[in-house]
Amino acid sequence: MQQKYYKFEVNLIYMNILALVLYILFFLGITILYPESIAKLYTGSGFWIFISLLFLYFAIHELFHGIGYSLFARNRQNIKYGIIIEKGVFYAMCQELINKKATIISLLMPIIFLSIIPWIICLFFELPILFILAGMNFIGAIGDFTMLFLLLKLPDVSYIDYDNSIGMYLISNQDISKYRFIGIKCVDSGIHDERLIDKSIKRFYISRPSKIFFIILILFLIINLVRSVL
Ligand SMILES: [Zn+2]
Repeated sequence: MQQKYYKFEVNLIYMNILALVLYILFFLGITILYPESIAKLYTGSGFWIFISLLFLYFAIHELFHGIGYSLFARNRQNIKYGIIIEKGVFYAMCQELINKKATIISLLMPIIFLSIIPWIICLFFELPILFILAGMNFIGAIGDFTMLFLLLKLPDVSYIDYDNSIGMYLISNQDISKYRFIGIKCVDSGIHDERLIDKSIKRFYISRPSKIFFIILILFLIINLVRSVL
């Protein structure tokens, strides 16, 4: 029997509104928890240093998804990364089939390593910036959580990224088009075919504006680091 693909897409408007509400609540919470650090964040270069660290953190988030995929993929050449800052896109993709368990682990990787472990570290050390970054990562992973909960409801499926579009392609023998979870549903389906995989996507793709952006960002962080040491 031919396997079918089911493309599930997250409702971005819905997710962004939800994330925004959570970010506001989170910032209100940490303003009470760390008043001095938050005061520093809102003054001088503190704010820009924080924003720069946040962008780096979001890039590392994708790296952790990629590490998750590479634990299970047979060929690492099929794991691809990209940053298109002008579109607000950071991605890690896996262009070969991995099973459901591997997908769940890959989705969880940045949540565990960039939120849960840093929060545990913050229990022992006073590191407000790390605490906040971990929180921003946790809220930013809202799309990952949605996919996770959907996957937990689904029967056995495989995962693949045909291309770098938003959403995920799940391969199954059963009709899974009716499954849904808050903010995610099946938008397209068809016969699974290896030829659907867009092999033209580079292993590492950083758009020109992204390169310029990250060079400025890293220089800015280095200058501020040197200034704080001197
Ligand atoms: Zn993610």
